[in-house]
Amino acid sequence: MTDLAAFAKEKGVKYFMISYTDLFGGQRAKLVPAQAIGDMVEDGAGFAGFATWLDMTPAHPDMLAVPDPSTVIQLPWRPEVAWVAANCVMEGEDVAQAPRNVLRKLVDEAAKEGLRVKTGIEAEFFLLTPEGDVISDPFDTAEKPCYDQQAVMRRYDVISEICDYMLDLGWGPYQNDHEDANGQFEMNWEFDDALVTADRHSFFKFMVKSVAEKHGFRATFMPKPIEGLTGNGCHAHISVWDLDGKVNAFAGDAGGQIGEVGLSERGGYFLGGIMKHAEALAALTNPTVNSYKRINAPRTMSGATWAPNTVTWTGNNRTHMVRVPGPGRFELRLPDGAANPFLLQSVIIAAGLSGIRSKADPGQRHDIDMYAEGHKITDAPRLPLNLLDAIRNFEADAELQAMLGKEFSTSYAKMKHQEWNSFVSHFSRWEKDNTLDI
Ligand code: ADP
Ligand code: MG
Ligand code: MG
Ligand code: MG
Ligand code: MG
Repeated sequence: MTDLAAFAKEKGVKYFMISYTDLFGGQRAKLVPAQAIGDMVEDGAGFAGFATWLDMTPAHPDMLAVPDPSTVIQLPWRPEVAWVAANCVMEGEDVAQAPRNVLRKLVDEAAKEGLRVKTGIEAEFFLLTPEGDVISDPFDTAEKPCYDQQAVMRRYDVISEICDYMLDLGWGPYQNDHEDANGQFEMNWEFDDALVTADRHSFFKFMVKSVAEKHGFRATFMPKPIEGLTGNGCHAHISVWDLDGKVNAFAGDAGGQIGEVGLSERGGYFLGGIMKHAEALAALTNPTVNSYKRINAPRTMSGATWAPNTVTWTGNNRTHMVRVPGPGRFELRLPDGAANPFLLQSVIIAAGLSGIRSKADPGQRHDIDMYAEGHKITDAPRLPLNLLDAIRNFEADAELQAMLGKEFSTSYAKMKHQEWNSFVSHFSRWEKDNTLDI
């Protein structure tokens, strides 16, 4: 375990940023001078929980964010500050609804089955002007801009700076590209344990936004920032290992269609859990009003949304909700850039374990091009059409709620209903355009 005071001395760190993530994925922090870190490591930094999205009242006692020293990262763009992920505690107990606690519990739950979930994520983002109105690069206008060599080089200073930092941090980055929408990029690094990936995902978002700002741009992970263009996905690749992390428990041949794609029996059940709970877990993987403009969307300018509409799985075919690109792992293409890094991993483990425990059948594999021929599949559930439907599906899925923890689930649904109510009470231009002369 890293000794934070010694870390500060050795690296010249002046401030620690003790950071936790609330239910809406917001990162909240206190800047603590290195001289004071000794006490904070023991007791935690104090916060008023009500002031963030954690379903607390102003009357609640102090919430303490206790740093996990193993997560410490010196900010590569501001080395006198070091970020450290924290666990939320109140009156000596873990706060049940705090996202990092939810994930830690599920990691323990998987360990009880002798399993260790490893995941990699693809957190796409746009680089916009500082106001967030338009794409930062006025020349990035191609109809099919994916992998555009010239356009990625026009943002080389931002992309290479972030990738250099990931190399120094030892994350194993291996590729960067211009993505399918104008102004959109993706940077990939190696998969790891779900909690490590969640911490890195959080830090990645912070880093991308910070470096973009430094260069005079605004980075956004918003699911569908620009109408008519491909949205920001956050695909998750998933495999499950034994506790030593040496044997891939997903790799194997379960027989039938599951065996054909190189998955074991348990791999098939885990996938079955994802399929079974998909309509409800969307409330976490696609957590905002805007999320539902990315899935179920009409064709984009590039020709495809690359996002799913229906609960279907397939082999190496990117038009379905789940793709099995190779033996021993699968890709969930549903999550978007608004997904809370901790809740994304939590709900994957929760649904997967529920699938293993109930021996869930993932159902029939589909191989068609869903964008062209999706209407031919009539027996697969549709993904929710809006956030309210997703929240209601989540509330109706007692099994998934129990796996995630009832306290968390109740708080989450309550906060999300509030968000939805805030949205529907907002008066829009559309209403006037369509109702004024009625
Ligand atoms: P895509 O083809 O979907 O665009 P990427 O290369 O962009 O794939 O991202 C793949 C992600 O999946 C990376 O984070 C990678 O480390 C991760 N990954 C690869 N193999 C596994 C595995 N066995 N288990 C979990 N994640 C994996
Ligand atoms: Mg105060
Ligand atoms: Mg990718
Ligand atoms: Mg992509
Ligand atoms: Mg992908």
